[in-house]
Amino acid sequence: MPHPPWASINPVMTQDLQNPPASALPASVDVVVVGAGVVGLAHAALAADRGLSVLVIDRDHRAVGASIRNFGHCCITAQTGGLYELAMAGRKHWLDFSARAGFWSTESGAVVVARTATELQVLRELAERREPGQIVLLTAAETLTRLGRGQDAPAATEASAPNESADVVGGAWLRDDLRVDPRTTVANLAAWLDTQQDIAVRWNTSALGFEAGTTRTAMVRTSRGVVEADQVFVCVGHDVDLLFPDVAEQHRIERCSLQMAAAGAPGGLELEPAVLTATSMLRYGAFVELPSAAALLAQVQGQDPELLAIGANVMFTQRPDGTLLLGDSHAYQKTADPFLAESTSDLLLDRIKGVLGVESLTVTERWQGIYASSDVGPILVANIRPGITAVSVTAGIGMTVSFGLAERNVNALP
Ligand SMILES: Cc1cc2nc3c(=O)[nH]c(=O)nc-3n(C[C@H](O)[C@H](O)[C@H](O)COP(=O)(O)OP(=O)(O)OC[C@H]3O[C@@H](n4cnc5c(N)ncnc54)[C@H](O)[C@@H]3O)c2cc1C
Repeated sequence: MPHPPWASINPVMTQDLQNPPASALPASVDVVVVGAGVVGLAHAALAADRGLSVLVIDRDHRAVGASIRNFGHCCITAQTGGLYELAMAGRKHWLDFSARAGFWSTESGAVVVARTATELQVLRELAERREPGQIVLLTAAETLTRLGRGQDAPAATEASAPNESADVVGGAWLRDDLRVDPRTTVANLAAWLDTQQDIAVRWNTSALGFEAGTTRTAMVRTSRGVVEADQVFVCVGHDVDLLFPDVAEQHRIERCSLQMAAAGAPGGLELEPAVLTATSMLRYGAFVELPSAAALLAQVQGQDPELLAIGANVMFTQRPDGTLLLGDSHAYQKTADPFLAESTSDLLLDRIKGVLGVESLTVTERWQGIYASSDVGPILVANIRPGITAVSVTAGIGMTVSFGLAERNVNALP
């Protein structure tokens, strides 16, 4: 009988799997972490620091999720209540693991640029609520200097007289904010963790299901076999609905998709802090709860409604190589629309050029980022069954709160 035509061009591959490949998983560890984004790695790092054996698995060959697509901004100062506590608790861990694992970080703080008296008033109100020195109010000249626009600064007398129609009328420096490089941090942290005793990071290994264990409390079925553990943290970001649809439905989880761009630094600009603007103040909790927040919203609605229509948070940071990370817009759907709207990119770029006082920016990359979002609350920690906990940051602050949240969850282990 002749071979079917495909047999010669597509021979069936066979492989002897009697000897387990080098990538085989350990049969049993104290803690399994599913997902090697920043939330999963923070749980792995702090569990290992407690002396527990840890296995991290990620379905992809390297991290390409929300944790590498963001601004790398630990937006600590603008959080409020429990999120502020998590952000502050995580701050020391960011600096500690930056030193130990050797990834770049800077205690840069953030600058919030004010272009109207209302924006300045919001900044003043937050400064009054915080300990002296945490939020430093800036004159127009000081703000421009921190934006690398020192030559544009008005004379001191003008700076002290805010004018609604002026470019920059003042600002604030948020002392406690940190920055890391989103493109390299997760890869470096994962690689370093993998070199530590009692931690293994295994890529291209998907979690497929979760059950009770036979020798330990829980069992994870993966695409490379089963692993048993006393505790499993499932940190799969916005894909929590793919594994636990009922939990995601209860927490009303959606995907928030954001448009981002990278550009070369105009004129060799060197920018230390993260830069936030009025639309940032409309999004972060510490600003939103202030008495003048409503007036700020009304002002932006009146002056720049297009920004609200795309859910803009006009902000930017600079990577260590000088590249500017520019963003962002927000759209909420259960399944994200994959297409980027050029009009959204144009609008964001236009407003950022205004803040930087430049005529043009040379865009080198554009991308979509997605994070989990919920109107129920900004954090999901759900006990799925004994020893299996789903953890997802359901707001755009996962870099900021990851280590604080991990500390809380790991400390709660028996
Ligand atoms: C454009 C953008 C800007 C942002 N800016 C900021 C900011 O400035 N500051 C801030 O604090 N936060 C910011 N965020 C939010 C922050 O990036 C996220 O909250 C955070 O990165 C979420 O981390 P994560 O580890 O939960 O998710 P991810 O980084 O998405 O990682 C989840 C991992 O789980 C893996 N995975 C999924 N399913 C499985 C499975 N079944 N088995 C194995 N592995 C699986 C994926 O491969 C992935 O690597 C921003 C987000 C975006 C998109």
